[in-house]
Amino acid sequence: MRILVTNDDGVFSEGIKCLAAAMSEVGEVVVVAPDREQSASGHSLTLNRPLRMQQIREHWYSVDGTPTDCVNMAVHGVLKEAPPDLVVSGINFGLNMGDDVTYSGTVSAAFEANMHHLPAVAFSQQVAEGFSFERSARFAVDMVKTLIREPLAEDLLLNVNFPAVGCKGLRWTRLGKRHYQQSIIENKDPMGRNYYWISGTPVWEEQEGTDHAAVLEGYTSVTPLHLDLTDYRGLEESAPLRDRLEHLELTG
Ligand code: MN
Repeated sequence: MRILVTNDDGVFSEGIKCLAAAMSEVGEVVVVAPDREQSASGHSLTLNRPLRMQQIREHWYSVDGTPTDCVNMAVHGVLKEAPPDLVVSGINFGLNMGDDVTYSGTVSAAFEANMHHLPAVAFSQQVAEGFSFERSARFAVDMVKTLIREPLAEDLLLNVNFPAVGCKGLRWTRLGKRHYQQSIIENKDPMGRNYYWISGTPVWEEQEGTDHAAVLEGYTSVTPLHLDLTDYRGLEESAPLRDRLEHLELTG
């Protein structure tokens, strides 16, 4: 069993150290992770400049790019001759739930793994008093040991969120809905020029069965995800809209 470990908090973050150490119980671990924090980088791929990779120590590499870059550098570079059986991402400092998964570099690394036909699990940690990456890494390793009892599907993608303390168990969930009371903070820099900082307070819709509800109630949330963004309900139900569009003269 070969496991690729990556993240978006950077190769020197506490979460990846704990996850990599724990995963070495399961198999051979190779770490390829960003050289600095890349949180909220989403599924971004660096194409406008060259990438640099540095070996930090045996089986540990840093890349001056995004988590998606790291998965590519691993699959087509470091692990070209010996592809991983599983990709794990995290443990992220902070939750990645609901709509936020589209911003998340942690989850995007797992999406990228799937695009390379590799099963992947993303791990994120609620940060509040008493949280412990080490405790969550032990849960992560138990989960992975359980998963690999059966052959892993190449499109397996689980998004796992750990509550800060006192985990009551595990819940199988769907993505929740979150609105940011988004605001832009405007200020002046020392040169007198305006700068802007995206900020905001997340407000969650209270819905049963979601990742947010599970973590709020003290459970570890596991959400199966897939990359196919097709709205299958829309495909079926938006027939009037489809008919109107199909009547457009778009030939020629
Ligand atoms: Mn992060």
